[in-house]
Amino acid sequence: MKRIIDQLQKSHTVLVASHSNPDGDAIGALLATGLALKAMHKDVRMYNQSAIPAVYRFLPSVHSISHRLDAVELYDTIVILDCGSLERVGIMAPQIRECSNIINIDHHMTNTRFGDLQLIDSNACATAEIVYRIIKELGVQFDCPMATAIYTGILTDTGSFRFSSTNQQAFAICADMIECGANPYEVAQNVYGHYSLGRIKLLNLALDSLEISPNGKLSIMSLTQDMLDTTRTQTEDIDGIINYARRIEDVKVAALIHEVAGNGRERRQYHVSLRSDGDVNVALIAAQFGGGGHASAAGFSVEAALSDLKYKIIELSETTPGLCEMN
Ligand code: 5GP
Ligand code: MN
Repeated sequence: MKRIIDQLQKSHTVLVASHSNPDGDAIGALLATGLALKAMHKDVRMYNQSAIPAVYRFLPSVHSISHRLDAVELYDTIVILDCGSLERVGIMAPQIRECSNIINIDHHMTNTRFGDLQLIDSNACATAEIVYRIIKELGVQFDCPMATAIYTGILTDTGSFRFSSTNQQAFAICADMIECGANPYEVAQNVYGHYSLGRIKLLNLALDSLEISPNGKLSIMSLTQDMLDTTRTQTEDIDGIINYARRIEDVKVAALIHEVAGNGRERRQYHVSLRSDGDVNVALIAAQFGGGGHASAAGFSVEAALSDLKYKIIELSETTPGLCEMN
């Protein structure tokens, strides 16, 4: 922590970035860090490769996040947030890797410990929790935009204080953020209050695609590009759908297969999300496929034929401790 504070204090120009296809924590941590450094009169660039999902566009200052970067070597320091590996940043990862003074701030247990300085706490409920501590150490006062960003990061990464990541800090920090101006009702209304009709229709298709392993402990949903096209939805609209597959009685692990690219070819690019009820560590399963994440929420990307991929996932229910035992 001390070395990170020193590095940030002595920097003039700072690039702050988080993972592509961002969730509430990636955006909240990015905004809060960027705004705190701006309050310290640093020259700050906030970057995320992807467009901001509609439900997060209400966040104050969200429009100051850039989606393009020309040169990365110009910055004194680069802060990477909520990324288990540097590749999660997206297309700029190779250029960023060549830079010095990279600070890695994250809460994924599979973090690869990239960068020059790291603050990785897998007990933190969200990266926003770690960012909160850093802002406190920097001595910056939380204003309403920063508080709203931190609150949103914690609310979404704890699944509205329901996931196993929900700790005492989640409540303590959120209470403090409300004191500093975050409005819980406004955040909840924006993030969970209204969905497009397409999103509800996509949910319908996802529920229809449900398959259950023979022992009933593993569920799979699959979403194709075709389904997204028909419902006029985008990747961001998939967020949260996997929880329906996870909630099924007796299911210990849920998988959601999402076709990312490759329409018309037999082998296509898929992203697989995994969720666990807590008995099985899905980060270890994701790592077997080259991905990572947390014990109860993880993911990986593969190129495969859909039927082979489903077969491999169903097979996990026969080989993974916690899934294959009879009880
Ligand atoms: P999701 O299923 O929502 O995409 O991701 C769940 C969790 O797993 C997130 O914390 C995310 O950072 C992590 N995750 C998802 N996909 C990948 C991946 O391809 N590689 C790594 N290292 N982590 C991933
Ligand atoms: Mn996170």
